[in-house]
Amino acid sequence: MPRSILVVGGGVAGLAAAYELAKLQRAGTALTFTFVEASKRLGGILETVRQDGFVVECGPDGWVSEKPWASELAKELGMQNDLVFSNDAERVTYVLREGRLQPMPDGMRMMVPSTLESLEGTPLFSDAARSAYAAELQRAEDLKRTAPDHDESVADFVQRHFGEEVLRVIGAPLLGGVLGGDVRQLSVRSVMKPFVDMEREHGSLIAAVQARNEQNRREGKQRPLIFTSLRNGTGALAEAMAATLPPGCLRMECAATAISRNGPRWVVETTDTDRTVRRHEADALLLATPVHRTQAWLRGVDAHAAELLEMPTSSAVIAAFCFSPDQPVQWPKGFGFLSPAGEGSRLLAGPFSDQKYPNRVPEGGHMVRAYFGGAEADSLIAQSDEAIAAFTREELQKVVGLLPAPALTVVRRWPGALPQYGVGHGDRMTQLQARVDALGGLYLLGNAYRGVGLPELVRDSRAAARQAAEVD
Ligand SMILES: Cc1cc2nc3c(=O)[nH]c(=O)nc-3n(C[C@H](O)[C@H](O)[C@H](O)COP(=O)(O)OP(=O)(O)OC[C@H]3O[C@@H](n4cnc5c(N)ncnc54)[C@H](O)[C@@H]3O)c2cc1C
Repeated sequence: MPRSILVVGGGVAGLAAAYELAKLQRAGTALTFTFVEASKRLGGILETVRQDGFVVECGPDGWVSEKPWASELAKELGMQNDLVFSNDAERVTYVLREGRLQPMPDGMRMMVPSTLESLEGTPLFSDAARSAYAAELQRAEDLKRTAPDHDESVADFVQRHFGEEVLRVIGAPLLGGVLGGDVRQLSVRSVMKPFVDMEREHGSLIAAVQARNEQNRREGKQRPLIFTSLRNGTGALAEAMAATLPPGCLRMECAATAISRNGPRWVVETTDTDRTVRRHEADALLLATPVHRTQAWLRGVDAHAAELLEMPTSSAVIAAFCFSPDQPVQWPKGFGFLSPAGEGSRLLAGPFSDQKYPNRVPEGGHMVRAYFGGAEADSLIAQSDEAIAAFTREELQKVVGLLPAPALTVVRRWPGALPQYGVGHGDRMTQLQARVDALGGLYLLGNAYRGVGLPELVRDSRAAARQAAEVD
């Protein structure tokens, strides 16, 4: 009998799993699979709107180039020539400080400068913060000796190295921008693992960045361009994966409603929009649904596993404003801005999409995507598109000055879209994995487990599909 597999949830995680299963099937692996998605569209948070020459990203706008898995997938899908890279030559990130956009010093790796000289003269930091940076380099031995052997919060970690001001002005908004979360709760080992490793080896993070730069220089290594995306937007990755699926495997507007077991097999009940209820039975079940959905189902299967999956989530609201070439719009050269708490704006960040990547706007056009995260996002979610757009434009104008009425506005709400990896997340996920393995035939996919970024999701989902098909 061919192995039967069911994939639930058609975001990038579920799609990458279904893509891998289809590939295995074409290569002759004996398997059948069904793929169900509750909504009318595949991609989940991965969505690109294309209109009037604008390529508007509603969720992710690219991925970190150093993580190869999404780029490898794009190449495999024949999109080698569609890969585009961030305009690193014009890379400047601004931080809103006392009502003005201040550029982050050159050569920073997140909140870590490569030289103390690069901090001289920047109005971004007070003298006290500059002294804290200088002291971090002096404290290398001490920091190495006292590095904790347990997880801690991102806030505690950054504070130990650079103090409260650096945490508030760039540490929190940089991480908040990625995870929309509260740095006092987030696990440093889960969300800043490379920095934890740097501390273990060098004590001082500045010393670690300097050592790495020096090694790269000696080896003649060029850093890859920081971010990778696709000419037609990241949504093109979802569209290309979907195009490879064999006829008949995909059921759209089909929501899984219940999960149970029949001996070693998994049973999933689904409801179509016309209320038809179906029962699917499979040897393996890949759940690529948002974490709270998955957790609710797990309760009936393994209550302790469900408990381990207890985690808060953070919402995002995004409004993209597009301006045609004849509209007078100007912002400083660079990738966009971060807006720290306490600096008078309710925005979290505002990437200048026209400048961050090529091909996002018609020649001479402009685009900015303004984000809200956490509680700010939650307070906006129930409002109409028009109200969100009007409010966002007001907030944005406080930062970049007066803006004309946009030629195109796109608003998206992503409620509870970003699971928060709290302190101890890594240990909890190890325990969860052991329980899930013991159940047999179950694979938990998506952004709640081993990373929120597209590359990690693609890597893990493809690997899980191969395991479910028993080829690895
Ligand atoms: C605003 C924003 C910006 C981001 N920017 C970046 C970035 O630049 N780079 C990056 O790498 N990452 C970024 N991320 C993170 C990344 O986009 C997400 O982690 C990723 O898209 C999540 O994919 P997923 O498949 O896990 O979940 P989702 O995209 O949430 O997909 C889950 C799917 O399950 C479906 N579903 C739900 N319930 C059911 C059910 N009962 N039955 C069937 N189907 C169901 C949903 O309809 C949905 O399609 C960003 C995230 C956000 C919110």
